Amino acid sequence: MATELCGILLHPAGHTLSPALHRAAYDALGLDAVYLPFDVPAEHLAAAVSGMRALGIRQLSISIPHKQAVLELADEVSEDARRIGAANTLTRSGDRIRADNTDWLGVRRTLEAMGPWQGRRATVLGAGGAARAVVFALLEFGMQVTVSNRTQERAVRLARDLGARAGAQQKTPDLLVNATPVGMDPNPDDTPFPTGRLEPEMTVFDTVYRPLETRLLREARERGCRTQDGLDMLVHQAVEQLKLWSGRSADPGRLRGAAEEALKRG
Ligand code: NAP
Repeated sequence: MATELCGILLHPAGHTLSPALHRAAYDALGLDAVYLPFDVPAEHLAAAVSGMRALGIRQLSISIPHKQAVLELADEVSEDARRIGAANTLTRSGDRIRADNTDWLGVRRTLEAMGPWQGRRATVLGAGGAARAVVFALLEFGMQVTVSNRTQERAVRLARDLGARAGAQQKTPDLLVNATPVGMDPNPDDTPFPTGRLEPEMTVFDTVYRPLETRLLREARERGCRTQDGLDMLVHQAVEQLKLWSGRSADPGRLRGAAEEALKRG
């Protein structure tokens, strides 16, 4: 069989851990495949997706800023991606391209062992693509979800689309999720949540993974909260992507090791 070609579409070109993750999975599973980053600006997105058919590319991860626009370019959109309103994966089969969202599965796999979450309260900070996947996953757990965002109208729209509520959480949430870039390198001294409102009974999940321990997570740990970094979400969404084209399951622990090595290299 010919070598499979996979990759990631993103713009601008920047640091992405996805090649390290997928290549580690190919090595571990003995898959004959390569994974390349493609810097594709918005005006070339449609041509890039057509090129997927023309070049026989098997799968593309879809990153910022294309996660919504690709929904219009796929031949088929999964129910989950349609409801979330974003896709992070295009998989080609013959001439047909299907759009899926594995970000929300990454959230589910990351948090499920820390539950049960049914009926518990969550506050999600942010209302972009990551927040939509997070909110979808938490609602699937049966949580009561409040979305809080710098631009309130976006929080209201997200909450209305997915069935959450928007605004400030009155009571201490059981789970706090940061789905904004606040605290990410090169601004690791920023935090999206007031330190004084962290309570020991809270679980705090930061989707940021650069740095692995953000200021939010460090302060949460110091206050006695249970904490979760963003790298497992990235690993699990990649594991789910690989399953979509190869049917194979990669070991998340091994992929996390490869991602940590790539993070150290910068
Ligand atoms: P996005 O669609 O651009 O949304 C960014 C969100 O963050 C918006 O709600 C925005 O608020 C808010 N925000 C941005 N800067 C802010 C600031 N200075 N103060 C307060 N709010 C701010 O981005 P995204 O795709 O959702 O990604 C958000 C973050 O999630 C990324 O930076 C990344 O760290 C993380 N992420 C992690 C994974 C993972 O696998 N771990 C996957 C995807 C994303 P406005 O609406 O007001 O602009």
